[in-house]
This record gives sequence, structure tokens and C-alpha cells, in this order.
Amino acid sequence: MATLLARNAALLATFGPENTEINNGGLFIRDGVIEALGPTEDLPETADRVINLSGHVVLPGLINTHHHLYQTLTRVIPAAQDALLFDWLKALYPLWGRLTPSAVKTATQTGIAELLLSGCTATSDHLYLFPNGVRLDDTIEAALETGIRFHATRGSMSIGESKGGLPPDFLVEEETDILRDCQRVVESFHDASDYAHIQVALAPCSPFSVSRDLMRETAVMARSYGVRLHTHLAENAQDIIYSEENFGQRPGDYAEALGWVGDDVWHAHCVQLDESEIQLFARTGTAIAHCPCSNMRLGSGIAPLRRMLDAGVPVGLGVDGSASNDGADLLGEARQAMLLQRVREGAAGLSAREALKVATAGGARALGRRDLGYLAPGMAGDFAAFSTESTAMAGAGSDPLAALVFCGPHRASYTVIGGRVVVDQGEITSLHLPNLLQKHRAAAADLLRDEAR
Ligand SMILES: [Zn+2]
Repeated sequence: MATLLARNAALLATFGPENTEINNGGLFIRDGVIEALGPTEDLPETADRVINLSGHVVLPGLINTHHHLYQTLTRVIPAAQDALLFDWLKALYPLWGRLTPSAVKTATQTGIAELLLSGCTATSDHLYLFPNGVRLDDTIEAALETGIRFHATRGSMSIGESKGGLPPDFLVEEETDILRDCQRVVESFHDASDYAHIQVALAPCSPFSVSRDLMRETAVMARSYGVRLHTHLAENAQDIIYSEENFGQRPGDYAEALGWVGDDVWHAHCVQLDESEIQLFARTGTAIAHCPCSNMRLGSGIAPLRRMLDAGVPVGLGVDGSASNDGADLLGEARQAMLLQRVREGAAGLSAREALKVATAGGARALGRRDLGYLAPGMAGDFAAFSTESTAMAGAGSDPLAALVFCGPHRASYTVIGGRVVVDQGEITSLHLPNLLQKHRAAAADLLRDEAR
């Protein structure tokens, strides 16, 4: 019976239904689950591990709902720095075609390390290309070593250039092979139980890289197993044009026609959803992974987050792949979500607390997790603690919780997942970071070296 007591936090914000904020708060975790939470004086006094959180703000572990971890190997590639989505993809596909299982494993752990340091305790990953023997298993095995809760999504691309799709033919798979492997990874890895560390979702890459049949059949398969569905949707204006020209429908209508709406579906981006599509998503409980940095980086536009939230659409935050952000600071992403929405809607466009709610409870809902997203007895023992005594927080004592969003950058002092301290006093305990980064530099250089040949 392992126990962890975290006590004396300057402020503990639960982000539960009541949005309770507790001064001098703490929590007591037993076997990975929160047993008690409240003012420090009301908590047990001993545990196997006791952490003194004086001078810290505590919040639920942040949840990342959209990422492509392999892309940490291909940041700031010059040919892709200033391109819109479709040209950006075309510049990067040849590099990604050289990925190996070992490179994917190293990239997965490196990207997760970056997330852990920003207070993230659960992440989704969207892997949709499988060259040179790469398998979804590589990302899952890599993630298990880090301690993070991992939602691996088995992506796919089946419509290559010769059939009018975007990716080169050598990177697409046969649809029968895709469906067979989807079945294999769900049966091998998906854990539907509460407090699961590994879940699997099915995730054709986008409407412009797979067929109508594959979208439909993937949805049928996912529902037969009770796993979730994920894809990219309505990312930018080109995406809308492609949908109207090829399918005669806007993306929301296309998704609905193929069974791709419902409370078991979350779509990345949705920057260009119109009012009727927002109402469709609200009505059906279809969730969105909002990725503000990526949307700015690729010039895709400003997602109507305020409208989505007001309409009741479930929304989580995503850093998106590291070739289109190119950082994976989830708390920083919450800051950008707040700032970008204010560009669109004015200063009342999104509050700091709303941004954090999207990054926590919103993300849990998008990933279909009732056991994650806020702090309460019975919920998973996942939290992050940030110092109020950093340079970034100087002068911000009047509202240290809002300061996590208004000020920055921040780095988590503690990131705890299921009671396991994976970031301890600012250092990752589950990985040897210097060795990992050295391997990552070598793997990234290998991809570019091949480019020069
Ligand atoms: Zn993406």
C-alpha cells in the first residue's frame, strides 16, 4: 500500500465541478488514487513519501489531446518553416519516410519528457506512418517507461498522390492491412479500466489521406471494441476546399455522414468549423483538440474556441506535433489559447481559469477519461506543482493560479502520475535525460544525413 502526501501548497485548485481553490492545501494518495484532499491540517500526517509544497501552486495534471511525438526529430526544417499545411506536409513526408522503430522510440520518450516538465500527466499520440518496420508498439513501449498515461492512436494513410491524395505513394498502406493492424493493437494494448496507463484509439490521418470507406469501416471497428476515434478536421481553408471539391460537403457534414460524430470522437484543430458544425458537435458531444500554437505556426487561422465552449462543445488542448509548434509546453499552450482567443474576441475572450479548465477537465473529457482531469477523492493521483517563487512569478502573488497562464515560462517542480513522482524538484526521475537527448540528436542527424545523399 504505497502512499504519498503532498502538503502545505500555497494554493491547490481542483478544477472539479465546484472549481474549489484551497489555501494551504494538499492531497493524500494511496495506491495511485486520491484518498483525501483539503486543507493540510485535515490530512493524514505521514505517508511513505511526503512532499512539502510550500511556495507552490497545485493543479490537476495537464492533459494533451493531440500530438505526433515522432516529429520531435524534425523541428524547424527550413523547407517547412514558412509553409501552409499542405506544402508543409509535402516538405516533411520524405524525411518521415526514413523513420525507424528505434528513432520513433527515442522521439516518443523525448517528446514525453518535454511534456512531463510542463506538468502534463496524460498524452495522446497520433502515429499515422509506418515505414521501415515502425509499429504502434514502439510508441507504447517507449511511453510505458516514462510513467505517463498514454493514449496511442493508430493512424493511417491510404490515398497516395497517384490517387489524388496528399502523401507520396510509398508512405501509404493497403486498407486491409490498416484494419488488420488496428484490430491487433486494440486487442493487444487497449485497457478500458479506470486509472489505465495505456489506451488505444483509431485515427485515420485526415479526410485528404484516406478513403471514405476506410473512415466508415474504422468507425465501425472502433465502436465494436468501445475505443475512441480521432482525426484531423477542418484545419485550414485549403482543407475546406478539398472537402467541398472531393466530397461535395463541408468537413462536419462529411464526418457526420461517415459516423464520425459522437461522444466517442475527438477531432484535432477544427479551426474552420462554421456555426452549424459547432451546433452539430455540441449536439452530439463530439470533442475537439484545440491546438493554438500549431494553428498560428501554420497560419491556419483562429479556432472559434469561445463559440465552441459557449455552445457546449467538449474541448481539450493539444500541443500538436513538434514539426508544427515546435515546442511541447502544455502550460504555455494554455497561455496561447487564452491570448489567441482574445485576438479574436477581445479581452473577455477567454480567462486564465477557463484556459486551465480546458487543459485539464476538458482534455479528460476529450479523451473519454472519467478518472482524470480534476482533483477529488477517487480520481487518479495525477497532479502538477509549480513554484510561486520563480522569476516568472515575481510580483504575481495576488493571483498565483491565473499567473500560471498570464506569466511564464514555467517548469513543473513536481509532476505526479498515479502517485509516482516522475518530475521531482524539476528533474525527470523515470528517464535518464542526458542519454536520451544524446540518442535523439543522433537520430535526428541520421534523418537529415540521409536527406543530403
Ligand atoms: Zn496533428
